[in-house]
Amino acid sequence: MRRRTFVAAGLTALATAALPLRRLCAATTADLTAVGLDGKPITLTGGDVDELRAGLRGELLGAGQAGYDQARRLWNPAFDRHPALIARCLGAADVKHAVSFAAAHGLLTAVRGGGHSFGGQSGCDGGLMIDLSPMRTVDIDPLTRQARVGGGALLGHLDRESQGFGLATPAGVVADTGVAGLTLGGGMGRLGRKFGLSCDNLIGAEVITADDGWHRVSAKETPELLWGLRGGAGNFGVVTEFVFGLHEVGPLYGGTLSFPLDAGARALLKGYADFTAGAPDELYVGLDFDADEHGQRLMELDVTYYGSAQDAERVIAPLRKLGKPHEDTLAMTSYVKLQGSNDIPGTSKQAVYLKGGLVESMTADFLDTVVGCLESAKLDSLGLGFQPIGGAIGRVKPQDTAFWNRAAHYSMHIYGLWKPDADHDTVERNKEWVRATYQKLEPLTHGRYVNIAASDDHDSHLSAAYGGNYPRLAALKKQYDPNNLFRLNANIKPA
Ligand SMILES: Cc1cc2nc3c(=O)[nH]c(=O)nc-3n(C[C@H](O)[C@H](O)[C@H](O)COP(=O)(O)OP(=O)(O)OC[C@H]3O[C@@H](n4cnc5c(N)ncnc54)[C@H](O)[C@@H]3O)c2cc1C
Repeated sequence: MRRRTFVAAGLTALATAALPLRRLCAATTADLTAVGLDGKPITLTGGDVDELRAGLRGELLGAGQAGYDQARRLWNPAFDRHPALIARCLGAADVKHAVSFAAAHGLLTAVRGGGHSFGGQSGCDGGLMIDLSPMRTVDIDPLTRQARVGGGALLGHLDRESQGFGLATPAGVVADTGVAGLTLGGGMGRLGRKFGLSCDNLIGAEVITADDGWHRVSAKETPELLWGLRGGAGNFGVVTEFVFGLHEVGPLYGGTLSFPLDAGARALLKGYADFTAGAPDELYVGLDFDADEHGQRLMELDVTYYGSAQDAERVIAPLRKLGKPHEDTLAMTSYVKLQGSNDIPGTSKQAVYLKGGLVESMTADFLDTVVGCLESAKLDSLGLGFQPIGGAIGRVKPQDTAFWNRAAHYSMHIYGLWKPDADHDTVERNKEWVRATYQKLEPLTHGRYVNIAASDDHDSHLSAAYGGNYPRLAALKKQYDPNNLFRLNANIKPA
């Protein structure tokens, strides 16, 4: 007893002795000029910064500190953002502390999941980046067939864990994309026509809101917030955990099938359009117009069939007859291999500018316009492609989730690529081709998808993305984020 008292007294004495030292440390943190929510400069005192740091389990990084440059890097090197501070969150309490600090100081706030937004929305200049990339845990419950996924996990983490139990949930087609941004905006991929969008499979979440609130989201507890998370982008708070329903997914048939464009771009695209218009839900055929390493122009098909090899061969036979394939790797394989989940590459070596739209049907006019645009494209740096949607995605009513555009059959993307050190003219030339191509095709599209948008789209695409759901989303935004703290996203303005 006496010994314990001695230890306690000793610790208290030590702590008291350390106080001046702590004050000394506090005094060494310089005041910081940061950027406020209105874009104007604000001052954070050294004491403010220390208060933020002291409340975090994870690191707080500022310019010049080890790890800062790595942590601020986004997938798209077109965006070289320099946040004033980066809070590397290790758990929900870190996120809560960072959000409440940002709200109290009116600080420009970026939330980073996988860092893959094409428009660099998860970074900011001069604000606070709330970085969830250390939060990548994935827990699978094979009995309830549910996955609990950390707010910074990548698709490859989710795919590999769930496939370990013969399960999967629909996700995008590239393994290093973030689960968070992809799901909150919608989430289209290889299993989508069979099982719906990623957001359709979201059954719960844990969310920190701007008022320092913590919410367990489920259809029973907070149905309206769940509705908003299913496609309403990161508008309502920071999701620290996602809960997905899982499906049985065994070996799949798939791979790449490509055709040289000399065979006739229009005939090939028409063949693709006719074939996919009548395809079963089990089949996904993504398309990209591309060039191989020798500059040969190609129509490249990314095929996945959910079913046996025998059924797949029968269903896919007309596709193989579109021409003489340049490459045909179609065979039974695993979902993890198709997704590339064994190899998570990280950041892109090329900068990207991308725009997109949703397409209900590939009419003759649409095909002619696409082919006309392709003729002016240098396919080693410019490209155009489609992801098929429809199937289970189209059977959800537009008002049942925030994701409105349920009648579309394809998501179209148009992009320009360049090396990060490319000169200004090259960058502008590539961007201009994307803008001009989009301008020609836009009248033939039927809505937008918030995850396939450029930074200079600003808010122009929101009404086309949210249609009749917009007023309900604006009311939800007013309830959970009336001051629009979470604005670096497909930004819904509080009603
Ligand atoms: C190579 C590549 C392939 C792609 N393939 C597909 C595809 O097959 N299908 C498809 O549908 N889309 C695809 N996309 C688009 C993708 O869905 C979006 O880029 C998406 O925003 C990426 O999410 P992220 O978490 O990686 O991005 P981030 O840049 O981290 O975040 C995107 C947005 O979500 C917000 N956010 C991030 N994390 C959270 C969180 N935890 N809580 C609240 N808000 C958060 C951010 O603030 C930001 O506004 C692809 C993108 C790339 C770059």
